[in-house]
Amino acid sequence: MTGAEAAIGLRDALAAAPRNVTGFVAGGFVRPHGEALPIADPATGQTVAILHESDAHEVDAAVRAARHAFDHGPWPKTGIAARQQVLMAIHDAIMAHADELAALESINTGVPLAQTRGMHIPRAAYNFKFFAEYINHSAGELYQQEEGFLTLVSREPMGVCALIGPWNVPLGLTSMKLAAALAFGNTCVVKPSEMTPLTVARLFQLMGDCGLPEGVVNLVNGRGHVTGAALSGHPGIDMVSFTGGTETGRAIMGALAKGIKGSAMELGGKSANIVFDDADFDRALDGALLGVFANNGQMCLAGSRIFVQRPIAERFMEAFVARMQSIRIGDPLGVGTELGPMINAAQKQRMIDYVGIGEGEGATLLGGGKTVPGMATGYFVQPTAMLSHDNRARLCQEEIFGPFATFQVFDEEDEVVWLANESRFGLAGYVWTEGLGRAHRVAQVLRTGTIWVNTPMVRDLRSAFGGYKESGIGREGGRGCEAMYTEIKTTMIPVTPRPIHKLGGSNA
Ligand code: NAD
Repeated sequence: MTGAEAAIGLRDALAAAPRNVTGFVAGGFVRPHGEALPIADPATGQTVAILHESDAHEVDAAVRAARHAFDHGPWPKTGIAARQQVLMAIHDAIMAHADELAALESINTGVPLAQTRGMHIPRAAYNFKFFAEYINHSAGELYQQEEGFLTLVSREPMGVCALIGPWNVPLGLTSMKLAAALAFGNTCVVKPSEMTPLTVARLFQLMGDCGLPEGVVNLVNGRGHVTGAALSGHPGIDMVSFTGGTETGRAIMGALAKGIKGSAMELGGKSANIVFDDADFDRALDGALLGVFANNGQMCLAGSRIFVQRPIAERFMEAFVARMQSIRIGDPLGVGTELGPMINAAQKQRMIDYVGIGEGEGATLLGGGKTVPGMATGYFVQPTAMLSHDNRARLCQEEIFGPFATFQVFDEEDEVVWLANESRFGLAGYVWTEGLGRAHRVAQVLRTGTIWVNTPMVRDLRSAFGGYKESGIGREGGRGCEAMYTEIKTTMIPVTPRPIHKLGGSNA
């Protein structure tokens, strides 16, 4: 079978997915009624499904269903063993449909199948397994220092969680929120990106057999200013967990301020990738390429600002560009494809526009920066690298969110630390050096939530993931999610009753 024939077969995954994507409220999919929006396959530009937008009434119904399930339903009080069973059933359902979900994700996002099948879908399943295991060991605190008292600190579910996701890793990222919120006994209203709702909608179908009580999970679909705004401004929610752009995060935090509601914000990035001249050259090269071109370069944690120390800079950039130009661009479902299309026409144009912006700022185009010859349908663009001499240039400060590397050359360790930190973002940082002391020194002073030393991105869900500065608030991962999706309650109980001061009594 040729790659193209295999791709045609994989498109059958669409047959199982909802072609008319609607909300899911109080245990059932709602009838299509909202504004109809096309869902495109970015590799062809063709419409593959229709999204029926949830308006404010539907959002209200979804929040009410979640509220009712939280206030009156069994889920928040369900024992750990029963909750674990449900979470593991969802894990198993995802794994049983992993091929189909991966194909669907690739069709909807343009991310190559090797990445959706190899990483994102197994990770989506693992999120449920991880939190099923985590809650087994989750515990409160007990203090006895206050004489005569036991002071108990316990965690309770937060309530109704609004879970709003981005388009770049739809199921992988939204499932993290869903798994954690459910594990800690919450009820939810999920809102995926209006561009990539297919796998989350399919998950809602699959979850039907997993034992969740009615109203615990609800789904709304639609654009940010319609459905997203109605959800994040709804008085019936208790918190928002959001992953997306920094400006959207700012708007949501503004809406939440009215109700003094909490939020977790996983926002944008422009992460530094620092290559010292004592690095293992080949590994640093492999890591730099993967760090900026995986997931079609549409990654919050992309190492898109690459700083190379002068003695190896020329050789490194030459090798980088040569490899970049050999990256296999093609159908996301095709065997061997390494880079798929951008999510939409605007994102493709944004890549090309930034080449002009960079040149206007004095940067040099090292390679790429154009549409792909012979691939006019679909939103394909060449992977791109530019060399800049100005860290304050837009090219070095703004998140492009595509396969676009910006190089800068540095001389000294202190200098590169300063340059790396001169950013409004602080999501991740990469350091390549064989010097143990230098690795620790630099890791200690970079103002970012995660540092990867001599490795491209890897995640350990036990550890925290999130951003400094405008890259976010809160941390995902085991304890981070526990903090995010629970309220803390302190209960004090006297074991030896102390006399209580009698106001108005004989000792007044
Ligand atoms: P986006 O901010 O445009 O949209 C994200 C979600 O928010 C979508 O579901 C959208 O419909 C919704 N939304 C938009 N306006 C809203 C509003 N006013 N109220 C409520 N919801 C609203 O982001 P995107 O383009 O989908 O994703 C790309 C961005 O996400 C990048 O900046 C990327 O860095 C960031 N991201 C961050 C992480 C992380 O973990 N820090 C992970 C992935 C993506």
